[in-house]
Amino acid sequence: MRNPLRWILSSIRRKAIMGLLVVLLSAVFLIGLSIVSQARRFIMIEAERRAASVSLFVANNLAASTRSPEDVEAIVVLMDSICADPSVLYADVLNDDGSVLASGCSRPELGRRRSLPLSELYDLAAGGVRYHVYGDVLEVYRKLVFGEERNSLMLLLGFDISEVRTILSKITRLIAANALAVYVLGLLVLIVAVNRLTEPLENLTGGIKDVGSGRSPEPIAVHGYDEVASLTGAFNQMIHDLDRTREEVERYQKHLERMVAERTEALNRANAELVEINSTLKEANEKLMELDKLKSNFLGIATHELKTPLAVVEGYLESLKDGYAGELTDPQQGVIRETLLSCRRMGALISDMLDLTKIEAGRMPIERESQTVIKVVERVVGQMIPLIQKKKLTLDIEERNMNTVAFFDEDRIIQVLVNLISNAVKFTPEGGTITVSAEPLEEDDFSSIALAVKDTGIGISREDLSHIFDEFAQVGPPGKEEGTGLGLAICKRIVEAHGGRIWAESVLGKGSRFTFTIPITSN
Ligand code: ADP
Repeated sequence: MRNPLRWILSSIRRKAIMGLLVVLLSAVFLIGLSIVSQARRFIMIEAERRAASVSLFVANNLAASTRSPEDVEAIVVLMDSICADPSVLYADVLNDDGSVLASGCSRPELGRRRSLPLSELYDLAAGGVRYHVYGDVLEVYRKLVFGEERNSLMLLLGFDISEVRTILSKITRLIAANALAVYVLGLLVLIVAVNRLTEPLENLTGGIKDVGSGRSPEPIAVHGYDEVASLTGAFNQMIHDLDRTREEVERYQKHLERMVAERTEALNRANAELVEINSTLKEANEKLMELDKLKSNFLGIATHELKTPLAVVEGYLESLKDGYAGELTDPQQGVIRETLLSCRRMGALISDMLDLTKIEAGRMPIERESQTVIKVVERVVGQMIPLIQKKKLTLDIEERNMNTVAFFDEDRIIQVLVNLISNAVKFTPEGGTITVSAEPLEEDDFSSIALAVKDTGIGISREDLSHIFDEFAQVGPPGKEEGTGLGLAICKRIVEAHGGRIWAESVLGKGSRFTFTIPITSN
């Protein structure tokens, strides 16, 4: 891939050389041009000065040797004498109208004389001079006024300046050759200078590329004291710092690796310990589950075995009460009554425990079918009415939603409702009200119906509410109504076996509300 820094550098170099070349070329050209024009000016001034002095000499001699313009012969003689100078090409004296009064040397091969029209010379003052160059000839016009009549004539001298031109072109060639040499030399110096300038930059570019690709470059040699040198110095310092940082990072990395290895080892050790603990716990759990099963079996068998003799005892007691063994005295009747009550309580406890062990052992089958809620409510109320009337309580059934068809095991849900209503009867003082209601609701991913039993009884404290569904939980003030403490635990298990849930809300002294849900749909 092309290195962008190198590319930028070579582009800078190209542009610098081109720019400096243009500047150098222009400078050499302008200097050469000004030297040539100065030399030309200088040489021409020299030529003009000479022409001026010759023309002044002629003018003075004319003024001295002639009295009038008619003295043509004397003028011709003077002209001829001037023509003896080989650089004088022609020497004429012209009248006002431009006609030739006298002519010195006559060299027809010289071609045209008098390159300026006389009209351009009218404004010349007496003695005034005008120079004019055409080809290799420098013409001098001088106005002459002499004689008492103040006659005016025009002196025209033509000087050969071909030699001057040769010298000028020689000078021009010489300067051009020198300029070329200066230009070439300048070009070489320029290339060397630009190279010298860009070489450290190129080294820097290489160094930056190395740093970029993660290598550690050697320090770059610093030449001189310019900006590039200080930049190179800064770069070297940066490499040095970078090396030190890299070493530190490597050291830290090694330290971290060591720490990670140590921690990994410690973790592995802890993990092994955990695995061991886990397997011990698993074993203990299995043993516990086995024991629990044994306990359930034992309870199941024991309670079942207790039921038969209890029924026999109860039967005998009933017979005794009914006078099977003769008339009983009042104290004997009292004893029998109390014993019967205890037997019944024990019987209730045994059936509750049997139910619980059956549920725990998964031996209580839930046989669900679709039927209306009102059907079970009516059956339960039918069973409970004598108890409710005995305690002078009012029972309200809110018929709204009672015709909802739900999917449940009738006997089990009757068991739940009986339990809740008998609790309500138990814990509601005379004159109180018990209300049974139904409310459909959307729960999780299925629709349910919530059945609630509300009373205006003694209520349950906030702390007790959290464990009334535990087995053998009997809360509230001691010595209240008798019970086994298993009813709500059994209700909870039955409701959960239907996929529903049960909860209680209560205000102490005001009453309680027990609600449970059963699914409406069969999924
Ligand atoms: P128990 O056979 O003792 O009634 P439960 O499991 O049915 O056992 O009830 C547990 C306890 O919850 C009860 O002892 C009672 O203290 C409290 N409880 C249950 N229902 C009510 C209610 N309707 N009003 C007040 N307390 C109640």
